[in-house]
Amino acid sequence: MNTFTRRRLMLGTGAAVLAGCGGRDLPGRGYSRKPWAAPRIAPGNVIREVVGHRPFRPSGFVVRAERVDDKLLIHNYGHGGGGISLAWGSSALAVQALGNRLPGEAAVVGSGVMGLTSARLLQDAGWQVTIHTRSVARHTTSNVAGGEWGPFSVHDPDVSSEAFKTRLDWAARISHHAYTNLTGADYGIRWLEQYSLSRTAPEPMDEPGQWDDLFPHTADLAPGEHPFGDWHAHRNVTMQIDPGTLLRALVRDFQLAGGRIRIRDFTSAGDVLGLPEPVIFNCTGLGAAALFDDQELVPAKGQLLFLPPDPAVDYMTLGGGRGQLYMFPRSDVLLLGGTFKLNDWSTQPEPDETDRILEEHERLFAGFG
Ligand SMILES: Cc1cc2nc3c(=O)[nH]c(=O)nc-3n(C[C@H](O)[C@H](O)[C@H](O)COP(=O)(O)OP(=O)(O)OC[C@H]3O[C@@H](n4cnc5c(N)ncnc54)[C@H](O)[C@@H]3O)c2cc1C
Repeated sequence: MNTFTRRRLMLGTGAAVLAGCGGRDLPGRGYSRKPWAAPRIAPGNVIREVVGHRPFRPSGFVVRAERVDDKLLIHNYGHGGGGISLAWGSSALAVQALGNRLPGEAAVVGSGVMGLTSARLLQDAGWQVTIHTRSVARHTTSNVAGGEWGPFSVHDPDVSSEAFKTRLDWAARISHHAYTNLTGADYGIRWLEQYSLSRTAPEPMDEPGQWDDLFPHTADLAPGEHPFGDWHAHRNVTMQIDPGTLLRALVRDFQLAGGRIRIRDFTSAGDVLGLPEPVIFNCTGLGAAALFDDQELVPAKGQLLFLPPDPAVDYMTLGGGRGQLYMFPRSDVLLLGGTFKLNDWSTQPEPDETDRILEEHERLFAGFG
């Protein structure tokens, strides 16, 4: 089992392992001084089930420029399970790939989070931007994302290069910084505690983890120091992003800055390169596999259950049962996940997974008072 798989199996999204399990002498051990509300989980409370396909590449996302005849084509796709988290940083890398070219007209293909953030950064740099897309933002994979800020499940660290890991770190940090400037209801971003649950106590680490500084209020809590029964809990604080709210705000900002959106389904790279703009950003997510014959790019199917929102629940959980699990109390829905199935193109929720996600979460919260 490779590192990537092991991390995912241990902790669902893998966040806590990578965020550091320091065993450091940190303030804030034990219960937070808040009333702990349990999410109201029952089959009859499920209002919707959704399936999405993360655009996953073992060697990591693609951000690079290529010149094709008189066009400059800049790719920005393949962000796996972390595209919401990485968007501002990856799009900043994509805009940097313009070099010292002076602003003019640019096309962005795709209106998911990568297309919209690329378009906004281009506008801020003085470009006139038109988005060409098959689907408007609310019908993209970006709108299906869970919304935890955590640049995880983005690559297979056993496959990706050191150069990629350096770019990932840069993109994660730039993006984190950008989101901290946008917190609040307008962009659907707030800070929340998250609890990553595991059967065994984390090993003390000699050195801080790579992104420890991005996940404050860290503590490793033993059973009895939290309400999650006999699990070990790694607690930290991160941003939760409501993807629907974020995407609507980005579309608004894009249009206020003069941006135009054109609906178009491209069937080939030649089709894309036939656009009139001299500069074209390819932000087509999983669509890039067919359009640009990227055979490394595969879907990682994710299944989510939506329940009515519950403002009393003010923490996220990761893990705590069989398979991948997470609970995010977003403002629009209370979300239960999930699955991560590589190479699975099916678009229907699987009843067995629905049952597992519900049963495991019911059990996890059963001990709450
Ligand atoms: C279940 C699930 C949970 C997730 N949870 C998280 C999370 O908690 N945190 C996180 O950071 N990330 C998460 N992600 C990952 C995140 O959603 C993706 O990495 C991100 O949305 C990718 O954004 P994108 O803009 O590249 O692609 P997309 O959102 O797929 O947008 C692609 C755009 O390109 C257009 N397009 C594609 N092909 C064509 C074509 N041929 N012609 C015209 N237009 C085309 C589409 O219409 C769309 O507008 C999750 C994903 C899933 C599925």
